[in-house]
Amino acid sequence: MTDTCRERPAAQQPAWPDAAAVQAVTRELSTSPGLVVPDECDTLRDRLASVARGEAFLLQGGDCAETFAGVSADTVRDKLRTILQMAVVLTYAASVPVVKVGRMAGQFAKPRSADIEAITGLPSYRGDAVNELTPTPDARVPDPTRMLKAYAASATTLNLLRAYTRGGLADLRAVHDWNKDFVRRSPAGQRYERVARDIDRALAFMRACGIDLDREQSMHGVEFFASHEALLLDYEGPLTRYDDQRQASYDLSAHMVWIGERTRSLDGAHVEFARGIANPIGVKLGPSAAPEDAVALAERLDPDRVPGRLTFITRLGAQRVRDLLPPLVEKMRAEGVLVTWVCDPMHGNTVTTPSGYKTRHFDDVIDEVRGFFEVHHALGTWPGGVHVELTGDDVTECLGGADDLSDADLAGGRYETACDPRLNTTQAIELAFLVAEMLRER
Ligand code: PEP
Ligand code: MN
Repeated sequence: MTDTCRERPAAQQPAWPDAAAVQAVTRELSTSPGLVVPDECDTLRDRLASVARGEAFLLQGGDCAETFAGVSADTVRDKLRTILQMAVVLTYAASVPVVKVGRMAGQFAKPRSADIEAITGLPSYRGDAVNELTPTPDARVPDPTRMLKAYAASATTLNLLRAYTRGGLADLRAVHDWNKDFVRRSPAGQRYERVARDIDRALAFMRACGIDLDREQSMHGVEFFASHEALLLDYEGPLTRYDDQRQASYDLSAHMVWIGERTRSLDGAHVEFARGIANPIGVKLGPSAAPEDAVALAERLDPDRVPGRLTFITRLGAQRVRDLLPPLVEKMRAEGVLVTWVCDPMHGNTVTTPSGYKTRHFDDVIDEVRGFFEVHHALGTWPGGVHVELTGDDVTECLGGADDLSDADLAGGRYETACDPRLNTTQAIELAFLVAEMLRER
C-alpha cells in the first residue's frame, strides 16, 4: 500500500484493539503467496473490455457476506452451480459470451451504516474477517487474526472453484439439464419452457453440424473469476504485489475488486488504493452519485482509459433507476469514457418487514433490472450485466418469486444470511430467465 494511501482517511475500518497484533498479521499476509496471478487479472480485464464494447455480458453474484462456516465443498458447489445455470440461460439469450464472476473467495468484510447495532446495542458485525456474528460483546471485538482465517478460507474456496470449473459441474449439457428440471418444477416454469426448448434445439443443431459435444473442450470447462469488495485495507494492502514484468502492482486477493457505496469518496483511502493496482476495478454508484462524481472517479481510477479497467455498478433502486441512470450514462458518454455498466438490483431495494426482517421483494429486483435495460436501450448503450446477491441454498430471505415467499415464510423458514438478504436458487434462476427475456426483447 502506498504512503499516500495510508495518509488518506479510510472509512469503515475496524477499530482493532491491539496495533501490534495487526502488524503481526499484516506481516504474515505480506509474505504469503497471492491467491491469483496477474495474468488472470489481465484476462478478466480483457473480458470486461468486451462487455464494455457490447460483445459480452457480465454475471457477478454470490453472498452478501461469505462466512467461514459457509466454506464447504457442498456450499461452494451449489453456489457455483446456480451461477452456471444462470449463465447458460443468459448466454443463449444474449448470444454473446457471459463473463462469470463470483462474489466469492474473499467477500469476508462488510461496511455498515452504523457502528453500533440498533437491536442489540453491540458493535456491528463487520464480516468474518473482522469479528463474529454471534451477538455477544466478546464476539464483536475486532480480531486481526481473523484476516488470516479469511485468507485461508479464500484459498480453499478458490481451490474448489478451480476444481469444479474443470469438472462435470461445468458440462454445458449437465447445466442445461438442471435448468430443464427447474422449468419442470417451478410454478412459473411454463413461461420459461420456450427458452429451455430453444437451447435444446441449439445443442441438437450443433450435433447435427458434426460438432462432437463430448470432445468439444468449450462444452466442459468454464472460465470463472473471483471478486469481492476491497474494504479492509489491512488485508488488501499486504496482498498487493509489484509485478516486475508488467511494471504494475496487483491486488492478488482476487481477480477483480470493487469499491463500495460507502467508501467511494474521491479523496478517501479506498479510491487511492484502487488507483495503485492494475486489477479491473468496480465502483458502486448509489442514488447520491452525481454525474460529475462518476467522471471524477473515472479520471482518478482510469486516467489512461484502459479498456475493461473500470466497471460502474449502479444500485439506484427500482423507484429511481429510470430517473437517475440516464444522466450518469449520458455524462460518461459525453466525456468519451467507455465504461462497463452493470446493474446491482439488490442494494437500492432493501426494506424491513413488519416483523423486523431485512428483505427485498423479487418484483423490485426485477423492476430495477428492467429499468436499467430500458435506459440503456433508449440511449443506445449496452446494459453490460447484473450483480446480484444469491446463494445455492433454498433460503427464505427475499420476498416474492415464483414460490411467492411472504413475510411469514421469512420468519418460519430459512433466514440465514450473515448480512443482506440473498436470492435463493429458484429466485436466482428465475431472474436469469427474466433477464433473458429482456435481452431478447432488445
Ligand atoms: C454490498 O455489495 O454488499 C454492499 C454493501 O453494497 P453497497 O456498497 O452498494 O451498499
Ligand atoms: Mn450486501
